[in-house]
Amino acid sequence: MRIVFATSEAVPFAKTGGLGDVCGTLSPVLAKMGHEVTVIMPLYRCVRYGGFPLEPLGITYVVPIGTKTVTGRLAASHIPNSPVRVIFVEQDQYYDRDDLYHEGGNDYLDNCERFVFFCRSVLEVIRLLDLRPDVLHCHDWQSGLVPAYLRLEYQTLPRYRQIGTLFTIHNMAYQGVFWHWDMILTGLDWKHFNWRELEFFGHLSFLKAGIVYSTAISTVSPQYAQDIQTPEFGCRMEGLLQHRSDSLFGILNGVDTTQWNPATDRFLPRQYDVTTVAEGKAVCKAELQKELGLPVDPGAIVMASVGRLVDQKGSDILAKLIRQWAPWRPIQWVILGEGDSEIEESCRSLARDFPDKVVVRIEFSEPLAHRIIAGADIFPMPSRFEPCGLNQMYAQLYGTIPVVRGTGGLKDTVVDATPENVAAGRATGFVFEEASVDGLAGGLERAIAAFGNKDLWWQLARTGMQQDFSWKRSAQKYVEVYQWVIDRHRSMLRELARAG
Ligand code: ADP
Repeated sequence: MRIVFATSEAVPFAKTGGLGDVCGTLSPVLAKMGHEVTVIMPLYRCVRYGGFPLEPLGITYVVPIGTKTVTGRLAASHIPNSPVRVIFVEQDQYYDRDDLYHEGGNDYLDNCERFVFFCRSVLEVIRLLDLRPDVLHCHDWQSGLVPAYLRLEYQTLPRYRQIGTLFTIHNMAYQGVFWHWDMILTGLDWKHFNWRELEFFGHLSFLKAGIVYSTAISTVSPQYAQDIQTPEFGCRMEGLLQHRSDSLFGILNGVDTTQWNPATDRFLPRQYDVTTVAEGKAVCKAELQKELGLPVDPGAIVMASVGRLVDQKGSDILAKLIRQWAPWRPIQWVILGEGDSEIEESCRSLARDFPDKVVVRIEFSEPLAHRIIAGADIFPMPSRFEPCGLNQMYAQLYGTIPVVRGTGGLKDTVVDATPENVAAGRATGFVFEEASVDGLAGGLERAIAAFGNKDLWWQLARTGMQQDFSWKRSAQKYVEVYQWVIDRHRSMLRELARAG
């Protein structure tokens, strides 16, 4: 198959979140399976000065933006150690900036224009480089207008006729919503500004465009694909997603097992595998306690959290629970993350009030994240919503027991230690229902009780370590969905031909 990714981020070039990881990691795995993959993304400042080899292609093109025309240039590179070609759309007025989307906490005022340009450029690149994809795989709101332009402006041209589209939503909470006058920038007819197409409660929505005009939609876990069809998680798009439910798929993200494998992890003081997990984790735990200035005590349960300190992750719920439990329970808490300043402060105050029980690091540290996940006993994740989530997968691969709210990807990847699941040897952690202090407390109480039963504990840990969270598995699922897109698009073309 020939696949073109339209994305705003791909590692190692540009990343602000899971989108960058998925695009930079999935594309080489698809290539390894024999598919031809090209990635199209903006040439941001971090790409230009990131030390990557960039080849200018000497191709200039022009696209309409509102009443003006804007010129773009193309450059090329590769995802390192792979045949995946990356085509960069160069337009320095739009992309040569300090950040990808915002400055000083505010979105760039011209984000709509920047990504109208990007979306139009993607369709031009297909023509200029003669790419002929079977599937155009668009990611998140930044490429939401690509399926719209394809359907409304390009698909009548022979070279674009065969192209089906998959639109992947990595997080429903980011929608690319702009005021209605920005319709002018898109160059699309106002007749499409209606509730069935581009209009979203009086505004223009890129995410909606992607959902409406693509052949199929996917999100990053099967459960999240269900969740977003409900008012609680749908961010007011649940009706539209229900309408498109026959074309909506959920595919779990994979784990980069070259980075996240306790048997080879260079950040750990002691590597271990499923046969040496008890000894290995004991060393990692003691070293972690030492590193963080906690009392070195093998009997104290270490509960850890790594990730953005934001509402989505329920970090406020965790902080409240720690405040209730820390005065009287012999538990050590480790928090690594940055995010919302209020939540950061409540975590800092916990560390001040309980210095020998709570350690808080407000920073981004990959090595420390590895050591924490290896050294902890229990990994609580009280997320309000979770499209996929990676840490619960890392925790399992490292023999650390996740205690998660049953939402999105958390529900798909953690098997609750019910008596039946334990008896069947399937259980890997604990799942609770409510994103609240009581909900989390209930889940943690079950985990603490299990911690006292070593046979059960190591059974859970070893089962988790043997899970297959590889990208290969995810990529196979993507290929199935690509084939579905190709078939559906062809049958749509046949129907159109019949209708004359
Ligand atoms: P999201 O994309 O919603 O933030 P994910 O769990 O999908 O959450 O991915 C976040 C990734 O970033 C995880 O690998 C997590 O360990 C990592 N991460 C987040 N914050 C930090 C931090 N402060 N230090 C190190 N790694 C972090």
